[in-house]
Amino acid sequence: MTATHSTRMLILGSGPAGLSAAIYGARAGLAPIVVQGIQPGGQLMTTTDVENYPGFREVIQGPWLMQEMQAQAEHVGAQMMWDTIVEIDVSQRPFRLVGDGGTVYTGDTLVIATGAQARWLGLDSEELLKGKGVSACATCDGFFFRGKKVAVIGGGNTAVEEALYLTNHSHDVTLIHRRDSLRAEKILQQRLFANERITMAWNKEVVRFIGGGQPEGLVAIELKDTVTGELSMLEVDGGFVAIGHHPATELFRGHIALDDDGYIQVEKGTTNTSVPGVFACGDVMDKHYRQAITAAGTGCMAALDAERFLAAADFETVAQAAE
Ligand code: FAD
Ligand code: NAP
Repeated sequence: MTATHSTRMLILGSGPAGLSAAIYGARAGLAPIVVQGIQPGGQLMTTTDVENYPGFREVIQGPWLMQEMQAQAEHVGAQMMWDTIVEIDVSQRPFRLVGDGGTVYTGDTLVIATGAQARWLGLDSEELLKGKGVSACATCDGFFFRGKKVAVIGGGNTAVEEALYLTNHSHDVTLIHRRDSLRAEKILQQRLFANERITMAWNKEVVRFIGGGQPEGLVAIELKDTVTGELSMLEVDGGFVAIGHHPATELFRGHIALDDDGYIQVEKGTTNTSVPGVFACGDVMDKHYRQAITAAGTGCMAALDAERFLAAADFETVAQAAE
């Protein structure tokens, strides 16, 4: 028989947004259920040093922060489910969602905190060499390239942090960027330019990743100069794609309004989506800030919005019964 779990507040996602919503929801007595998805703890599980999350004088580790957040949410009464939602019905309340093993979840309110996923360049050669030298996570895979030559593709905070991180393992890191200036924060840029192990490849885009050897692995990256069109070859053993993320919203398309870039649309200043009783927080609705602290902040907002929604709905039910 299919298991069913019901709650006043169902939360999708266990990154900073989902877990903050869980802490607030639990403390409001809503006994939230958090469906964690395939990346329990979210994106910060893939990083090391976090030094901009308030409350910690010393540098902390991303995975540690997320373990603490989960422990805090559980401590105040949130329930974690190791499952991924594959089907949703938000046409009526309670909302009905189905996990990939067939487990059914119903929620009087739904908080969507499914975050964002790594973007890839979309090259055939990238697909062929994923896991064979091509990766989107330096902190996960950098160790495998100890003493080898590596490259990072991108010009944002992630790319710069990954390049800096990789210098722990490699003395030869190239940062490939398609323009001649970075969009990463200035403090990160200063660290990057001060690091002698990192070389910049400005105005370069990847034409293809080239495999070789036995077993096959990445041996070089063919580059094209975005100004002159000139082709060149960079010999590397590891290539880390760090060109941003896209929101995890395919599941909601056709059910909840999305913007042109696929992010969940929310009413300004709130976490209200196009469906009353469904709230969205964190990177899945925020393409401007995309920080752990903003995700946590909007997670708090979503729980408060859901709590107020339930209070108003309960009031209406009681008022109708009294008529
Ligand atoms: P995410 O952290 O992306 O979590 C999404 C959650 O949704 C995951 O648990 C996933 O399993 C779940 N999920 C997805 N689909 C489903 C589904 N169908 N069913 C159930 N669950 C689902 N920010 C900082 O402030 N400081 C930093 O130092 C910093 N470093 C970073 C380093 C890296 C390498 C990266 C990639 C990001 C970094 N960020 C940093 C950004 C920060 O990680 C994000 O802004 C933040 O994690 C967003 O939180 P979130 O909860 O919205 O989503
Ligand atoms: P991002 O800021 O969107 O930067 C993506 C980078 O990849 C840009 O430099 C972009 O180039 C490049 N790019 C995009 N598509 C490309 C393509 N097809 N080919 C080549 N290059 C491409 O993404 P992010 O660096 O992953 O950061 C995401 C969010 O997380 C940001 O808000 C960031 O501040 C946050 N974050 C914060 C920290 C921190 O606070 N320490 C750390 C990591 C991430 P252009 O510049 O030319 O557009």
